[in-house]
Amino acid sequence: LTSVTTPRRPRVIALANQKGGVGKTTTAINLGTALAAIGEKVLIVDLDPQGNASTGLGVDRRNRKSSTYDVLCGDVGLGQALQPTAVPGLSLAPSTLDLLGVELEIASSKDRAHRLKNAIDELVYDQRCQDLTYILIDCPPSLSLITINAMTASDAVLVPLQCEFFALEGLSQLLKTVEQVKAGLNPRLIIQGVVLTMFDPRNNLSGQVMADVKSFLGDKVYETVIPRNVRISEAPSYGKPALLYDLRCSGSQAYLRLASEVIKRERALRAAA
Ligand code: ADP
Ligand code: MG
Repeated sequence: LTSVTTPRRPRVIALANQKGGVGKTTTAINLGTALAAIGEKVLIVDLDPQGNASTGLGVDRRNRKSSTYDVLCGDVGLGQALQPTAVPGLSLAPSTLDLLGVELEIASSKDRAHRLKNAIDELVYDQRCQDLTYILIDCPPSLSLITINAMTASDAVLVPLQCEFFALEGLSQLLKTVEQVKAGLNPRLIIQGVVLTMFDPRNNLSGQVMADVKSFLGDKVYETVIPRNVRISEAPSYGKPALLYDLRCSGSQAYLRLASEVIKRERALRAAA
């Protein structure tokens, strides 16, 4: 009987912030690795044409045969685009620069905002992917149709915010977009949480920004704050997540704590549902 029950959909989380350089990709790679390290089965979907998540996970451009571009165009299923990574339990759907042109190609189709959602819905029935528990989507630095596809496909949005003076600027635009997607495209969408990145304890401003963000967003902000850590920024040039490059560095340890917070929040949500 169990074989005919519908497989459980993995939890889908979009890492979104229309600002570039705030830590979306770094968080996708290292949160994904940390979740895999504690036993989850994780897929990272690279939706940024720059492909930094793909490079950072050691998947060379030459080896990106099928990509998220092909998936959004409807030419291949998401399962076909998957590649293993050096991290057991972590796979990747890579992106290529073709993705820069995808919006134009799908703009006039009726299901243009649902392309990724449909691909994930089908993936659940793919034998190769039935044990997936988390899908993390690395979004481009915009609120374009690509990001709308990510939000339409997701259960939740996780927002990385850099600890800098303009951290909150643009946040209201992002929250408005989440509300619009929720109203028109995906009623179940929530904000999973906000994670502060590149925190520098020696910089007074970092502390001030943290206090401001917490008073504005309350308990949406994760307790875990990701410190600015040079090991984190070195790791991608070796094609490795920081957790493989230097497990003991402060950044890797912070991402492990973030992973357990994410799981804790997910469990609480499931229990409440
Ligand atoms: P986004 O995907 O939002 O554009 P990235 O994750 O690519 O941002 O991060 C931008 C830059 O900051 C990258 O060079 C990355 O290596 C660096 N970076 C991110 N997080 C940290 C951190 N905690 N400590 C040091 N450097 C970081
Ligand atoms: Mg990025």
